[in-house]
Amino acid sequence: MNSVDEAPSMRVVLIEDEKQIRRFVGMALAAERWQVFEADTARQGLSEVGTRRPDLVILDLGLPDGDGIDVVRDIRGWSSVPVLILSARPHEQDRVAALDAGADDFLTKPFGVSELMARVRALLRRTRSGTVQQQQLSFGTVVIDMASRVVRRDDAVVHLTPIEYRLLSVLISNAGRVMTHRHLLREVWGPSHASDHHYLRVYMTALRRKLEVDPTRPRHFITEAGVGYRFCIEPW
Ligand code: CA
Repeated sequence: MNSVDEAPSMRVVLIEDEKQIRRFVGMALAAERWQVFEADTARQGLSEVGTRRPDLVILDLGLPDGDGIDVVRDIRGWSSVPVLILSARPHEQDRVAALDAGADDFLTKPFGVSELMARVRALLRRTRSGTVQQQQLSFGTVVIDMASRVVRRDDAVVHLTPIEYRLLSVLISNAGRVMTHRHLLREVWGPSHASDHHYLRVYMTALRRKLEVDPTRPRHFITEAGVGYRFCIEPW
């Protein structure tokens, strides 16, 4: 600690059975003044989350005594703490299931420190800013007035269809999170359309065309291959 003015440290519960990853993630977070509480089983992890009241949970999906997806479900029964999942590449289905169960984001092993810290910052920004309540939101050259539902780009009004606006507002209220295809389809089109992925592709293309500087290289409406989409206020 080099200054008395520094904010009190944030708390993270790290649930991971691989000692090396625990060590690596723990050190990266401790270097940014996080207070790290470690657990190597689902059971111990849940108990740590319950007692430590962390600002963030980092959770491995494959734990010796249970499934990370069940851990997410359990946590979501009583807490809205951001949950960042760690998962190995072959487990794409598990990743989607964990996100659908209420996790906020994921990192695929192996990952680097800068990627880890970028995800952590994005999740904290989201929980701190409470984007949903904001009157006005801006990203790039776009300004959205939430009350009047008017969207402007470079000061000119952009016309969005009702579905486009609905998709945009769901993405905005979950800024920084990865939203699965299923989750977005359910929120925008309703439960009977949860598998109509092509709807999303069409409308996401429209939003990008209207709101991205270069729709072919989106900076705010990001594709998470095989999983869903992520909206980022700051360019990704
Ligand atoms: Ca594991």
